[in-house]
This record gives sequence, structure tokens and C-alpha cells, in this order.
Amino acid sequence: MDKNGIYEDDSLYIADTYARYRVAFKDGKGAKLYDFNGKEYIDCATGIGVNIFGVNDEEWKQAVKAQLDSVQHVCNLYYSLPQIELAKLLCQKTGASKVFFGNSGAEANECAIKAARKYGNTRYGNRNEIITLKNSFHGRTIATITATGQDGFHKYFEPFLDGFKYAEPTMDGIFSCYTDKTCAVMVEVIQGESGVNVLDFTFLKELEKFCKERDILLICDEVQCGNGRSGYLYAYEAAGISPDIVTTAKGLGGGLPIGACMFFGKCGGIFGRGDHGTTFGGNPVACAGAVSIVERLTPQLLLEVQGKGAYFKLNLEHIKNVTSVSGMGLMIGIGTTKPAREIAQECLEKGLVVLTAHDKVRLLPPLTITKEEINTSLKILNEVISQ
Ligand SMILES: *Cc1c(COP(=O)(O)O)cnc(C)c1O
Repeated sequence: MDKNGIYEDDSLYIADTYARYRVAFKDGKGAKLYDFNGKEYIDCATGIGVNIFGVNDEEWKQAVKAQLDSVQHVCNLYYSLPQIELAKLLCQKTGASKVFFGNSGAEANECAIKAARKYGNTRYGNRNEIITLKNSFHGRTIATITATGQDGFHKYFEPFLDGFKYAEPTMDGIFSCYTDKTCAVMVEVIQGESGVNVLDFTFLKELEKFCKERDILLICDEVQCGNGRSGYLYAYEAAGISPDIVTTAKGLGGGLPIGACMFFGKCGGIFGRGDHGTTFGGNPVACAGAVSIVERLTPQLLLEVQGKGAYFKLNLEHIKNVTSVSGMGLMIGIGTTKPAREIAQECLEKGLVVLTAHDKVRLLPPLTITKEEINTSLKILNEVISQ
């Protein structure tokens, strides 16, 4: 049903940048969503990995509401308790030394790019090239689409920034892009947008060594795979590497816009006064919500995420027409012989919300999804994919 002409109004008034599915969600609880007709869906998309503890999450709501009752915004000219609390929590949990808050994944990456350039330029003079990987995704601003190693995102928007090179995810690939001007290498430990591809951990270990030996900064973009999604607090932990800068967003805010750029060790002092800033960054309401998210990403919860992910994968592998299952924790890619968009559409009709990632189906359910909800999801996926 076209509730109150929503589809028509959307096409009249909203810039036509999204290929939307014809559904409008009214509300939900946990991993369940309801549309305006009252139809129930299981949510394996979480608004692209954002509603990490599900919809209408009590703890997050309480934290957000309490902050709304005090002050909704203070700009960054003044001290902000929720912002400090969140930064402290992130530093204590990861070993980072400083955090800069923005409002999105792209902004977190912009911050990392600026920091890497300042580090290289001030220490080595004119050292400002950044290597990113082919099939990476780092955002939609001009700098972050430049960083994104996929031609599809570059169409129409020339000229791009200088100083980016795209490597195959191998050491040969890195060496072929490396020059004496390389200041950083930026990677997604799990490439989300391009098909939920987990990078080879041996490659990541070698890359870490390569970077350390040359004082090149290793930046991990954990915008999508971070915050417990992979079954680790941050996915780089699974690879056993120590990045210099980690960016994150999506799940961090539990539903409100926030992005964080975390600086480790020698990177803590890169930025000085006036080097970077944003009006909304570290908004107290978003930060108060994020504190309630990060506090709950306990070792016990992460183990559960690993268990649920393994269960999902094991059962997906047996489905007819499934050609590959990739990912970690509750970040799963499914390769099939059927077009992914078609599968997503048919799943929606049967009451399951899934995403696509290039030619794959992508699942990003809430970390709190129940066994029963996983089984229902698997049943629907089986029906749709196997026929
Ligand atoms: C989504 C995403 C981004 C961009 O985040 P926005 O909040 O949409 O700006 C950057 N990097 C990765 C890995 C992402 O998945």
C-alpha cells in the first residue's frame, strides 16, 4: 500500500540518488520491523549495520532521552561530558590515545586522511600519498570517493584529489604503489560494500610490518565491520594487527549519526588546535547513545556474535544455489547463482530484510538477533535462493 502517497511524494521531493525498495517501516522491536500495513519482517539489514542492538532498544533510548532532557547540542568550543565519556571508553577498550568525533563514516575517513597527510608532510616534507585497496569503499565525499578503489564511484565527479593509489590486496600490489611519498595505507579488514570480503590475515600482518619499518601509517576503516559486528570489538583484533588510526561509524551510534577517528600511539599528537573541526561532531545526544552501545560490547556478547555468525554460515552453505559464504561474525556475504537484488526483493516479500553488496547478498542483523529469528531468516533465504 502506498501509505499517504509516500512513494509518490518521495519521488517528487527527494533527490533521486537511491534505488529504494518499495517498503516503508513504521516501527519495530529488536530484530523485528513492521511496515505501515502491520506486516512483520526480520531485520538482517539494521539500516546498513547501524541499529546494532536492534530497533527500539530500551537502554539506548534511555541514554538518549536522558541527554535530550539536559542539552541537545553544545558546540566544540565548550567541554561536553558525553563526548569525553565516549572517548574515554573507546580509548580504554582499544588502547587508542585520542579520538576525534565527526558525524559519519565518510567524515571519520576524511579526518584520517587529513591526519595521515599532516603526519607525512610535517615529519618528512611532501610525504602525502595514500594507498588504498582495489574494491575498497571509504565514503561518498570527494576525498573518500577518491580513496574508494572502484571506478564505478568515480564516474562524473572529476577532478579528484591527487595522492591516492589503488593496490591489489597483496604485498606485490602494495609494493607496486609504494613510493617515497607514501604516508599511509588504508584498508577495510572486511570489505563490506564490495561483497563482504575478509582480507587475508597473513597479508595484513605483512602490511603491518611493512608500514612499521617505513613509518607509514596503517589506517583501518572499521566503519562497517567495527563495534562488535565481526565478533571482535574491532575486526583488526582478529587479524592480530595494531593499526595507527582506526575509523568507525555505522553501529557506533546505535541509530544516531556519529563517526569516530581513533588515534593510536604516535598519532595521538598529530592534530593541533585549528587543524580540524565540525559543528555537529561529538553531539552529546549521539555520544550518550553511543556510550550505551560500546558499554555493552562485552567479551561475552562478542562470543555470542561469533557463535551466531558461525551458525548462520554453516546453515547457509547447505542451501542450493549458494556458491560462497564469506564474512565474520554477523557480517555475512552470500554468493549465489541468482541476482542479489532479485533475492533481496523476494526476501522482502516473504518478510526478511537483507542487503546486497555488489553481486552478493549481505546480512547485517542486530547483534542481539535470537536463534529463532536466525532460523526464520534461514528458512526464508532457503526458499528464495534455492528455487
Ligand atoms: C558505510 C561506509 C563508509 C561511509 O560511511 P557513511 O556514514 O555513509 O559516510 C565508509 N567506509 C566503510 C567501510 C563503510 O562501510
